[in-house]
Amino acid sequence: MRLPPDIFDRIADDGTITEEFAALCDFGGRLAGTESERLAMAYVAQRGSLASGVPYTSLPVSYGGWRAIKAELRLSDGALAACHPLVRSTPTAADGLSAEVIDLGRGTPEEFEAHREEIAGRIVLVRHELMFAAGTIHRRRKYNMALEAGAVGFLIAGPLAGALVTGSSGRNEGDAGIPAMGIAPETAARLARTAAGWARAAMVIKTEECEAQTSTLLFDMRGETDEVVVLSAHVDGHDINESAMDNASGVATALAVIRTIAPQVQGWRRGVRLAFFSAEEWALTGSARYAASLSDVEKRRIALNINLDTVAGGERLTALTSGFGELEPFLLETAEAYGCALRCVRPLQMNSDHANFALAGIPAFRLVAGYDNPSANVRFVLTPADLRDQVTEPELIKAAQLTAALLAAACNAPSSTASRWRNRSR
Ligand SMILES: [Zn+2]
Repeated sequence: MRLPPDIFDRIADDGTITEEFAALCDFGGRLAGTESERLAMAYVAQRGSLASGVPYTSLPVSYGGWRAIKAELRLSDGALAACHPLVRSTPTAADGLSAEVIDLGRGTPEEFEAHREEIAGRIVLVRHELMFAAGTIHRRRKYNMALEAGAVGFLIAGPLAGALVTGSSGRNEGDAGIPAMGIAPETAARLARTAAGWARAAMVIKTEECEAQTSTLLFDMRGETDEVVVLSAHVDGHDINESAMDNASGVATALAVIRTIAPQVQGWRRGVRLAFFSAEEWALTGSARYAASLSDVEKRRIALNINLDTVAGGERLTALTSGFGELEPFLLETAEAYGCALRCVRPLQMNSDHANFALAGIPAFRLVAGYDNPSANVRFVLTPADLRDQVTEPELIKAAQLTAALLAAACNAPSSTASRWRNRSR
């Protein structure tokens, strides 16, 4: 199905997309559990209702809340180095922990294996990698390898000169863990091994944990059948930046798409469910709870999840198709029909909320900018440089136009096409 021809122009002329993007950045990084996140969720609830013309349902999400009260890293010469605790890091003993630092470079499984005998009792140091590239080893995997090998602490060095890096340890409530911090690359250089042996460092992390509440916001626009396509984006982020690319870009894009297509949806075969998640940066908790709440019947009614996460900050858009290979011809055909460039990358990547839909058997993809492009601005995600000036208005518009085209086509695809999407490639 083709969209009315003026839809692309209306998206291009919709100045609100930049206003809402800036408003989300104005709230700050929106770390789950902070006032910044609460205010942003309230704003998104109100803007979502305006855009969709329907009231929202708020599903309560309880999760293992966590807050860092103190984080300190002291080098062997006594100097303090800047550091940032990873989300849900465990605390150190009150007087801190002091140990030798074993530098495992990038922190590949091979590096962990080669040093297996030397890791226990030491602090592991690894590097943060470009997240949107084939073969990336996720921080959470490195953290778990360090934990399993008996490390007593975990340091991850950022990619940006002079800047820290953040992220989540991925540790769930009640799980074992080790104290974990992001540091700047210069600090990592000062922790290098010398002829005299491994460098020493002292870490102090003080945290507070308690059950916390956030929500998932749903806006249901009915189509002709009870099937839906879920358009999703996560609102939360980190507290060292504006979480502008990741993911004010996705939220603002989703709002712009819904604003433009809302009047059409009642005539479409499938309806649209707009979903805003939080606690995504906490091991995808918001969407995990949502997926777990769905009955088999409800899962079957969801024809597709289109997840917008970091859709600006790079020129080209990529769909991460989560192993659903039969979705790819449909996406490419639709993008080409509208003159939009799109690439599909198939392996399931557990790097955003689409993964929880995919694990529940629901066809799902993440739209992401700058994939496999080491010079795209998305390389600054999770660093202090994830600020609004990394994003251009044409990037937001392009993401919204492509999303509108894919959403309309998915909502109107024949049942025979939609049922093929559910087949997984092996
Ligand atoms: Zn994200």
